Amino acid sequence: METSATVAFVVYALLFGWRLVDAVEGSASVAVLAGGIVAGYLVADLVSGLAHWVGDRFFDETTPLVGQNFIAPFRRHHVAPREMVEHGLVELVGNTAILALPPMALAHHSLRPDSLPLLFSGGLLLSSLAGAVCTNLIHRWAHMPRPPGPARWLQGRGLILSPERHARHHRRPFDRAYCITTGWLNAPMDRLGVWKAVERWLGRAARQDPR
Ligand SMILES: [Zn+2]
Ligand SMILES: [Zn+2]
Repeated sequence: METSATVAFVVYALLFGWRLVDAVEGSASVAVLAGGIVAGYLVADLVSGLAHWVGDRFFDETTPLVGQNFIAPFRRHHVAPREMVEHGLVELVGNTAILALPPMALAHHSLRPDSLPLLFSGGLLLSSLAGAVCTNLIHRWAHMPRPPGPARWLQGRGLILSPERHARHHRRPFDRAYCITTGWLNAPMDRLGVWKAVERWLGRAARQDPR
């Protein structure tokens, strides 16, 4: 199921991406599409941080439904950060592909980018879903001693999460830098104390030790 969802997601993303490119006419639409793609990439980073923060700070491995499938991998990752380097591609991205496939397919079948707002929305949807699906792969590259050449190139230009940016999450006090797609939002969110403020607001619910 994970393999089928991953393949189907890639096919739909490519078809939809091609439709967006095909709809570009003139410099205004190029700028609008680029803006949508950057905004979507930021959304993916935010969602990665939100999912990671919930996985680290809430519930535990014995929680019904989510304990073993969602919470346990986050906790295990702190004890054995390199373990995910051994995981295969589908093992890393398959779960997210299952969640991202329905909205991607829906966009492909129903969204016609024939105006600038729809072109922006299409770019945002595509890059947020594609960024979300790639997040665990990007996270793995940040833990690899020798990631593949293209990954190193993207890390070096700050276009995906770099090992240095992610190392802050694995250092004491283990309560910051939750965003793991690009890590662009880590600095502003940590400086503003967003996660801690929400934890304070939620009180006892967010008392889990991420270690
Ligand atoms: Zn974590
Ligand atoms: Zn990590």
